[in-house]
Amino acid sequence: MSLVTPFAGHRLDRADPIRGDATRLADLMRPNARLLRLEGLIPRLGLDQRLQWDRLCDAPAGAEVVFLGLLEGEPLFAAAPTEGDPDPAYTRRETWAAIADLPADELALYGGARSLLDWHARHRFCANCGRPTVLAKGGWQRDCLACGAAHFPRTDPVTIMLVEHRGRVLLGRNARFPGRSYSALAGFVEPGETVEEAVAREVFEEAGVRVRDVSYIASQPWPFPSQLMIACHAYADDDALTLDAAELEDAQWFTRGQVIEAFEKGQESTSFVPPFPLAIAHHMLRWWLETNDG
Ligand SMILES: [Zn+2]
Repeated sequence: MSLVTPFAGHRLDRADPIRGDATRLADLMRPNARLLRLEGLIPRLGLDQRLQWDRLCDAPAGAEVVFLGLLEGEPLFAAAPTEGDPDPAYTRRETWAAIADLPADELALYGGARSLLDWHARHRFCANCGRPTVLAKGGWQRDCLACGAAHFPRTDPVTIMLVEHRGRVLLGRNARFPGRSYSALAGFVEPGETVEEAVAREVFEEAGVRVRDVSYIASQPWPFPSQLMIACHAYADDDALTLDAAELEDAQWFTRGQVIEAFEKGQESTSFVPPFPLAIAHHMLRWWLETNDG
């Protein structure tokens, strides 16, 4: 079963050859070209609950403009805000409300644009020499004119894993999670690690469980601010838990029946409240139910 995750599935031609061709790019940047309508990083939707487009000449004076790509041959642009968004995703209720009903391809387009724009807003200075950097290649690079360093938009790999033991899955809750919400364990891949090694390390650090047979399920670009969620499945040899209290408030093994009940009853569930549908963990659990049909 292949899993298509929220924030995936944009229909843009990213048109890489145009990014580096100043003449072609300048030709596309006409005053009436389409500019994504944003307030800061929050999308401003129309009455049809779709993304809205202004004209490139409406961009704030002096704003850095990025080239998102071509949609059915038409160039799309977005202007970087003066400030990025350093706060965690779950604090952004206005953003969640705006994107909740976007069609899948527009959600993906917005997510990619958001990550890129936020990166520009928060990486205006060279990490090598500290001098200001300038936008390059249509916004897919920043150059330092002082030391010559080139900087590229971040994508930070994060493993998120369903660990299984004798028909039960391990889910945990962070103290910041609302109510009785539980989700799959997750953590950043560190330098020098494979995905499989990161899965095994994170599960052992957070829950004290050794895992084997790590396999890939699906991935998801997560634009708060720029993670690539890499969903994996693994088996545990033992179900004894030793929790890292700094990472997890609680973790438990849940049966297939409990996961089904959680999806059916949501907040009224007796076992736990499942992750919301925009999160890849939601789809991982549904995948697990479908591939382990009892
Ligand atoms: Zn520099």
